Amino acid sequence: MNVFRAISEEVLESLGTSGAGLSSKEAARRLAEYGPNAVERIRGKPLHKRAIETLTHLLALLLWFAAAIAFIGHLIEPNLGMATLGYAIVGVILVNGLFAFWQEFRAERTLAELAKLLPSQVKVVRGESVATVPGDELVPGDVILLGQGDMVPADCRLIEAFALRVSNATVTGEAMPIDRSAAPSDASDILRSTNALLAGTSVLAGDGVAVVFATGSHTEFGKIARLAQSGTEVRSPLLNEVASLSRVIAVLAFGLGLAFFAIGFEAGLSIWQASMFGIGTIVANVPEGLLPTITLTLAMGARRMARRKVLVRHLPAAETLGSVTVICTDKTGTLTENRMAIRELFLSRTLAPAYPADLKPEVNKADRRLCEVARWCQTVQRAKDGGWLGDPMEMALVEMAGRAGLASASVQLVSEIPFDADRKRMSTLHETVEGRAMYTKGAPETVIPLCTDLEANKGVAPLTRKLRQRLKEAEEAFAKKGLRVLALAYRRLEPEAPLPTSEVGLVFLGLVAFEDPPREGVAEAVRSARQAGIKIVIATGDHPDTTIAIGRQIGLVREEEMPQVVTGERLHDLSDSQLRTALDAPCPIFARLAADQKLRIVRALRAKGHVTAVTGHGVNDAPALKEADIGIAMGRTGSDVARAAADMVLVDDNFVSIVDGIEEGRAVFDNVRKFLTYVLTSNVAEFVPYLAFVLFGIPLPLTIIQILAVDLGTDLLPALALGAEKPHPDIMARPPRPRTERLLDHRLLLRAYGFLGLFEAAAGMTAYSFVLWQGGWAFGEPLAAHAALYLQATTACLVAIVLLQIVNVFLCRDERISLFAQTSLGNPLIFVGIAFEIGMILAVVYTQPGNALFGTAPLGWQAWLFVGPFAAAMLVSEEARKWIARSRSSRKPSEKG
Ligand code: ATP
Repeated sequence: MNVFRAISEEVLESLGTSGAGLSSKEAARRLAEYGPNAVERIRGKPLHKRAIETLTHLLALLLWFAAAIAFIGHLIEPNLGMATLGYAIVGVILVNGLFAFWQEFRAERTLAELAKLLPSQVKVVRGESVATVPGDELVPGDVILLGQGDMVPADCRLIEAFALRVSNATVTGEAMPIDRSAAPSDASDILRSTNALLAGTSVLAGDGVAVVFATGSHTEFGKIARLAQSGTEVRSPLLNEVASLSRVIAVLAFGLGLAFFAIGFEAGLSIWQASMFGIGTIVANVPEGLLPTITLTLAMGARRMARRKVLVRHLPAAETLGSVTVICTDKTGTLTENRMAIRELFLSRTLAPAYPADLKPEVNKADRRLCEVARWCQTVQRAKDGGWLGDPMEMALVEMAGRAGLASASVQLVSEIPFDADRKRMSTLHETVEGRAMYTKGAPETVIPLCTDLEANKGVAPLTRKLRQRLKEAEEAFAKKGLRVLALAYRRLEPEAPLPTSEVGLVFLGLVAFEDPPREGVAEAVRSARQAGIKIVIATGDHPDTTIAIGRQIGLVREEEMPQVVTGERLHDLSDSQLRTALDAPCPIFARLAADQKLRIVRALRAKGHVTAVTGHGVNDAPALKEADIGIAMGRTGSDVARAAADMVLVDDNFVSIVDGIEEGRAVFDNVRKFLTYVLTSNVAEFVPYLAFVLFGIPLPLTIIQILAVDLGTDLLPALALGAEKPHPDIMARPPRPRTERLLDHRLLLRAYGFLGLFEAAAGMTAYSFVLWQGGWAFGEPLAAHAALYLQATTACLVAIVLLQIVNVFLCRDERISLFAQTSLGNPLIFVGIAFEIGMILAVVYTQPGNALFGTAPLGWQAWLFVGPFAAAMLVSEEARKWIARSRSSRKPSEKG
């Protein structure tokens, strides 16, 4: 039995209850069976499990392994200093884990916000008396009492209602108040039936008695909350990249570690000395600071986006936005201002265009009717300041009626059929001085077919086929000017007649054309998106011609071009492959879409290999927002549901902000590559000493603790500074990066490992040899691990690496542009990073605790100067490489041509 269609008594019976409610015993039984009335957490994994996960990913496991060997080594041979090493490595793992935790907490908080929308205490009839129980104890079959201002605690069917009005905004996104009654409804789904109350929505006026038929995650709200929860699990392309990068690094580091352990053992080291050597190789090859730097770079990207009015709901979205190849946007309010001004009318009495100033309601009956529909068939409400609150189009209509001089006759609202995006019209039933009447307004093609007559100058006349053609032409003429058109109509009803459930036999009154100009900056944003190789798809509920005209105004559709528009009706008949073909058009336009059709478009775009950003505001948009790579909800006009399903929220609902966000997102990817190059460069310099040790049998030039001093000390802030670089000026002149483009590609590896890293390694090794040679050491002589000369030599190696990394920060700021052509003042963080780096290396070399902790010794000034030629060589060679790269790419187009 359908809970909406049946009469109240049958519904109560089918739910095993009555007007007197459930007994407490039965309620307890049902609670055990159905579970509490709360949004179920489908994430399943408790926080501690997630904590364990963040501490046990591949790189962390490798480091745990290294730390364990260090601790075991310390137990067996305490004088090798392996315990300090073990602690240092554990510290590294914990720091990385902490950042992962931080993200988890953010996700949890979002969920908690969502849960707050459900009420806590509910009045429920149990065993014939009314009790107040916590909302989460409600069960199906409970009879509850609701009054003005109450939140609806579960999905219910009304069994009694008195002037009850609700706002379903949290679930449907439609902010307009709607009437609800206890009468059986024709609609079979919960969103449309007039006797259903949805969990999470609110009662605006009146009161009622209702029976609960769905609780917790079985409610519409619960289903959406589940949808939103699954959203926090999204994996962005970047995260996938990082995961595969970690795998490559882990295998490499482990393999080398094992090989070096074997070589060391073979070369005559004790098993623990050889293990320390193996651990060193692993530590040198794992970029310890990488994961926290990525998280922080994303967080900084998210903050910069927020400044440009884009709020991301989970961090990886900041980068995903950068890889977008298609924006699928709605029109009203995103491309346009949603500031409606009535420009023209088409009146039934003259069958000709007119202006609002031509209306004479006091003298002409037809004008008065039109103004009455404009004034009363709406949902706007008086604001405190005397103005109106609500839908801008409706406010414009009410103001027009007021300006035309419509006397505020005693018109009383009896009932209404609310607007919905599928029907594209709304109707209200009124008690007027002339009797009962129904007023209707909506998209012309949904209203005119329901009209049988029109209000002519001398009373009602039949609406002939010829006249219908006239109306169609008038509508098209308005639409072609980019105006948004509504048709207004009415119907007299018998006294006491109820509001018909559908509108038929209407009398046509006129068309109203609204101007909703494009937002400022949208034309430039469209140009910028196009230049950046991003396709724009419009998916709107509005008329095709209006959409094309707006498309022209914002430069999306060229003047001479007549784009193919797919209407919702046609889309219905298109097969998936036909839809995919339609999407090949340069600017596909979908108009008069039904609420659920956006999802199909998004699916088709994704099937074509696009990375899609999709905007939406109502509950019906939630599935499309979920399906998209980046779902974008509206901050001002959007519903909570759409926001919950989205990956990001546009604070100002403005299309321009999406394009700004893409620019920032692209910068995030670029910046990750910048610091990846930076960090991997020093890895080479850290690894080569181990290689030299094995190949030439020299004392180890760089200790493990010194490696960590670079990876988690001196390198960290400059790497972060590279992560905070501003978008490159030509970042939106490039096409979107191909899906196949890897974060860590051969170009980056070759530059870091095969080029920059070699200079650093050479500098480190030469500085080391220089100090030893100066100290009188001869090749092959033994050197104690605590000998002052050895300490100084490793310190020189460390200093050389750090100094070259300072030069390297500048080199890594751009892969192709010369250091001298960059605006170095653009990013003050770089200088903060370098100051920190210098401060830290001075502390390591010249302070007592620094010496003790990192096994270093103070150096003479000559050792510092020694690095100069290497820094110069690195800089000059990199400039030469960039020059070659630039001239090669500038030759490419001409070669083609
Ligand atoms: P977009 O999808 O780009 O936001 P839209 O606002 O036109 O465009 P909908 O809100 O789905 O999309 O509206 C669809 C159509 O329904 C409108 O073009 C208009 O003809 C009609 N319409 C919109 N609001 C109302 C209303 N309050 N009363 C009657 N009809 C309306």
